[in-house]
Amino acid sequence: MNAPPRTKIFLEGRYKKLSRDLPQTIFWCPKCKGHPRRRRGCEQCEGFGKLTRDSVQELVGWVVGKAFGTRKHKFHGAGREDMDVRMLGRGRPFVLELIDPKVTDVDLAACEALINERNAGRLEIEGLHWSQKERVRALKEGKFAKRYQALIELDAPPAEGVVEGLVGRRLQLRQHTPGRVAHRRADKIRERWIEIEELRSLDETHLEAVITSEHGTYLKEAISGEEGRTQPNLTDLLGAGARCVELDVLAILDEDGREAVAPTVRVQPRSFGAGLESEG
Ligand SMILES: [Zn+2]
Repeated sequence: MNAPPRTKIFLEGRYKKLSRDLPQTIFWCPKCKGHPRRRRGCEQCEGFGKLTRDSVQELVGWVVGKAFGTRKHKFHGAGREDMDVRMLGRGRPFVLELIDPKVTDVDLAACEALINERNAGRLEIEGLHWSQKERVRALKEGKFAKRYQALIELDAPPAEGVVEGLVGRRLQLRQHTPGRVAHRRADKIRERWIEIEELRSLDETHLEAVITSEHGTYLKEAISGEEGRTQPNLTDLLGAGARCVELDVLAILDEDGREAVAPTVRVQPRSFGAGLESEG
């Protein structure tokens, strides 16, 4: 006997992440992977199964899942930011996939309002609407440049005129896979561009920057240079060790770094079936 087909509902919206302690998706313990049996007695997570209390996925999924009568969901973001990076501006597009919902007559605006009320100051979602399975691939395979705001700390004050000379520069980078992700990605060299839109000194050893970078650029490493593994880099160009101490995404752009026209397809919730996908 085949299992009955699973019913799925796809919702789409944008999220803004206002705190530096929130991962995008569930942060499973790397040791026990949250496995119900193996997590008991796990030293790394003390039996919790996860390394953070919550995530964007859970804060959205708990409220929406409850309304749709299912605990099973998947979260698909248009890329992701590191846990300690805020997602500001208009937010990042995402699709929430609900699996086997028991209820489909749901007020999405009320869900959105409840999520925002519960997570004031941490997470905000906007424009939650009915979507389709095809949007998952569009978000996953889309190449989006990003505009960032960075607070940079220097080992020593830069020479006079160096900071001003970098404003408006576009750099073509060669980046090795950073050490911090080497455990899950093979070391390879990627070529990416960044553009330094704004750069100004806050004091002798702190700079504030607005930088646009190509899809898939490791920006923290473009700043530090990671001992030459990214070249060119701001450490070399400034002539002082540079380190990104705070990072915010200001905008998700199109592939060439322009403001993207919102790529949202609005699907009306006609009846049970709108935005539904069956998988055999
Ligand atoms: Zn564990």
